[in-house]
Amino acid sequence: MKTIQDWINENPLINELVATKEVFWSNPKKEAFQTGLKKLSLNENDVEDAEERLKRFAPYIAKVFPETRKLGGIIESPLVPIQAMREKLSNMYKTPLEGRFLLKCDSHLPISGSIKARGGIYEVLKHAETLALQHGLLSVEDDYSILDSEKLRNFFSDYSIAVGSTGNLGLSIGIMSSKLGFNVTVHMSADAKKWKKDLLRSKGVTVIEYKEDYSKAVEEGRKQATSQPNCYFIDDENSRDLFLGYAVAASRLKNQLEEIDITIDENHPLFVYLPCGVGGGPGGVAFGLKLLYQDRVHCFFAEPTHSPCMLLGLITGLHDQISVQDVGIDNVTAADGLAVGRPSRFVGQTIEPLLSGSYTVSDQELFKLLKAMADTENIQLEPSALAGAIGPVKLSMEKDGRSYIQQHHLTEHMKNAVHLIWATGGSMVPKEIMEEYMSACHDNEE
Ligand SMILES: *Cc1c(COP(=O)(O)O)cnc(C)c1O
Repeated sequence: MKTIQDWINENPLINELVATKEVFWSNPKKEAFQTGLKKLSLNENDVEDAEERLKRFAPYIAKVFPETRKLGGIIESPLVPIQAMREKLSNMYKTPLEGRFLLKCDSHLPISGSIKARGGIYEVLKHAETLALQHGLLSVEDDYSILDSEKLRNFFSDYSIAVGSTGNLGLSIGIMSSKLGFNVTVHMSADAKKWKKDLLRSKGVTVIEYKEDYSKAVEEGRKQATSQPNCYFIDDENSRDLFLGYAVAASRLKNQLEEIDITIDENHPLFVYLPCGVGGGPGGVAFGLKLLYQDRVHCFFAEPTHSPCMLLGLITGLHDQISVQDVGIDNVTAADGLAVGRPSRFVGQTIEPLLSGSYTVSDQELFKLLKAMADTENIQLEPSALAGAIGPVKLSMEKDGRSYIQQHHLTEHMKNAVHLIWATGGSMVPKEIMEEYMSACHDNEE
């Protein structure tokens, strides 16, 4: 068994992580896409299957969530140019930034206002479909809006769903499950915001609160599921379904890019910056994007300096066998959606050959970025959702970022690059809390 000191000797970057300094890491295990893909147990057929399932559910979603009707019951978010934010970032960090800057506003996904409206809702729908098909209450040729009936809600009320969450996954699973008629229990970690718990309770969801962090909430959810018959546990640490629900974002994004005449090719690379908690959301999206754009897309994960669990798992290769607490990091951050101390092994292993790199960002920077995004683009996000926003700055300023660009022969293409910042949550944050976030920024440098 290696000690922490052995790890540090091998990887000095861990020292920086332990000191909660901001770091940038370029992934030495990244491979050419086609080679990397061969190592994985998932492929494009799995993503297409998830896409088809979401299409089957669209008539039901459109019926029960009127806000999704504009898009025919497809739960999708806007893609918006943020050139003013690019200028702001360039001034804030005193570095020239080239290329087109886009924001993927999962913060404004319907139903639950975060990236969890992809994976979380998908897994609940898949479970509901499986049960209804098994019991002959549905066939795949049906118009799924028939699920909106007393009969089906009664049927689902004999089943329960459990999940552990720092807040947003609980919102997605809770809202979707209770709409279908399931009995649903959300096990919430200490980081979970009160308004998220209140909202869920108002929808008839059972919320159990813990004084511990996310890993404890998941463990309790898992226990509940094994002790109750007919209880299905949504396992954020290990779920292929969640992962595939997130991966569907890629083909939708491709269409959105085409609509605004953006092509991604050898001369126009795509850089994507994804806030990472346990890994499923950013991992799934990155996987989907790699399938579509292969070596033309460069995916980076972003974590808080106090919760760099995925990065620690990747550097050491230990994945879920090491937690940030093991190396003396406290996992305390204002970025509640990213407050995870131990990463998913499944995601870590899947993403290992595909990921370009990862970096950490301090809470203080997150608040500055939050205010900058609100001031320049009038887009209000929760702190977690800003972790991606500093990605292009890191890539251009950090030594390892610059060598990544050189090694991949991207230098001359940077002026044509597309930098896509994935904004993962925020539209449901109550006004008074958003005001607190805005005033948490102590940046007087204007
Ligand atoms: C959950 C979440 C993430 C990260 O997703 P993981 O699957 O936990 O890695 C990022 N941002 C927000 C706002 C989230 O709620």
